[in-house]
Amino acid sequence: MTGNVSIKNIVDAGLCIGCGLCEALAADVSMKKNRQGSLRPYPLDGFTREEEKLCTMVCPGIHIKPSNTASPPTDAVWGHYLNMQYAWAKNETTRHIGSTGGVLTALGQYLIKSGTVDFIYHVKADDKNPLDSKACISETTAQVLAGAGSRYAPVAPLAALDTALNRNQPFAVIAKPCDLSAIENLSVKDKRINQLIRYRLTMVCGGQSTAQKAETVLKNADIPESQVTLYRHRGHGNPGPTRIETNDGRAIELTYQALWADEVGWSLESRCKLCADALGECADIAAADVWPGGSPTGEDEGFNGVVVRTEAGQHLIEQATKAGFITLGRTISIARFNDFQPHQLEKKQALKWRFLGLKQTGAPEINAPYSRLNELGQQFPEAKRQQEADGARSRFGHHNFTDESS
Ligand SMILES: Cc1cc2nc3c(=O)[nH]c(=O)nc-3n(C[C@H](O)[C@H](O)[C@H](O)COP(=O)(O)OP(=O)(O)OC[C@H]3O[C@@H](n4cnc5c(N)ncnc54)[C@H](O)[C@@H]3O)c2cc1C
Ligand code: SF4
Ligand code: SF4
Repeated sequence: MTGNVSIKNIVDAGLCIGCGLCEALAADVSMKKNRQGSLRPYPLDGFTREEEKLCTMVCPGIHIKPSNTASPPTDAVWGHYLNMQYAWAKNETTRHIGSTGGVLTALGQYLIKSGTVDFIYHVKADDKNPLDSKACISETTAQVLAGAGSRYAPVAPLAALDTALNRNQPFAVIAKPCDLSAIENLSVKDKRINQLIRYRLTMVCGGQSTAQKAETVLKNADIPESQVTLYRHRGHGNPGPTRIETNDGRAIELTYQALWADEVGWSLESRCKLCADALGECADIAAADVWPGGSPTGEDEGFNGVVVRTEAGQHLIEQATKAGFITLGRTISIARFNDFQPHQLEKKQALKWRFLGLKQTGAPEINAPYSRLNELGQQFPEAKRQQEADGARSRFGHHNFTDESS
């Protein structure tokens, strides 16, 4: 417990993202799926006093921190960066299988192949239950490729972070921005993080869906979960279809546009509505989609936009390009990147007002001191500010997000 805040407070308030750090740091706590289809630490009274103190200090649900706090922001929305440009995996298979252009996978493959790190810590589909995903350690380029593709369903990427650190070998992490915030928070307490984690790579993130998203897709397709042998969210093209295969030989595919057409059906984690670092200021490099207007109009060969945030990230992308793992394209201006990510821009400007609504519910406060939310909040249209605050107050004030029956 930090101050008056406990993990139960965080979970009850809807601020847990299910990152899994609670499982890594507390001996008798593990991540379990609740009835709403979210992974949450369980049991909530399973922490020792010391464990809970540490978990509440590092929880990314309430503490958001970029990895580089020393450099001034280049832009109020995008934070500090050195470079923004198009990039994609040079290897055609990696580019095709990857979620967008395979940049994150290609960087991971370069780091292994060059011997810079011993393994990549990231996530992949769970072989035993293809709807689920799990943290994994990849030691070969083929293993890194097996984790390619975005997993929109619940996953606790940090649940095995202790196992990765205990190997005492240099490694790189690929994970969502909130997962990397947790790692940055923990680095203050666990010195091994900065010694062993050589690179932190992330994706621009619009939010993590609960299991209800995939369950609805299966229900609509009349496929029982027990028959699913493959559930691929995207990749194998850009964006690539969502593909489901069954044990009786059926395969169905849905286009990205059909899957995400209606935001109401996204089943996002509640905490994602309050995300102050969806653009990955916590990483050396953040990779994104680059669709004009923010949505794909069809399939293409796969193009990422990369936001290089640190000297280490710049060095990595240059070396990976030189070694033939990455192809670099044109520079991307802020105006252009804003056009690729209109929902992110609007969310970031609305956050000050959402945080105001959250505060009125008595929920734990979210600390995001480096996110420029006051400045950005002033750019948000005055007429819509109250609506954002009311929306957050109603969403977080009248709902208990804990499901003890999990
Ligand atoms: C939940 C989610 C929401 C996203 N929303 C947006 C968005 O709004 N705008 C946008 O531009 N891009 C978004 N993306 C990013 C986009 O889908 C691609 O991940 C990004 O462009 C990198 O593409 P890539 O081809 O380089 O990735 P790949 O080469 O396919 O590599 C993806 C890597 O990410 C890891 N990974 C996949 N899913 C998860 C997960 N759930 N948690 C932790 N690690 C994971 C994999 O293990 C793999 O190493 C989102 C991704 C996710 C996972
Ligand atoms: S977000 Fe992570 S650290 Fe915070 S309560 Fe949830 S599992 Fe624990
Ligand atoms: S939107 Fe933010 S809080 Fe939600 S999963 Fe993405 S990085 Fe994490």
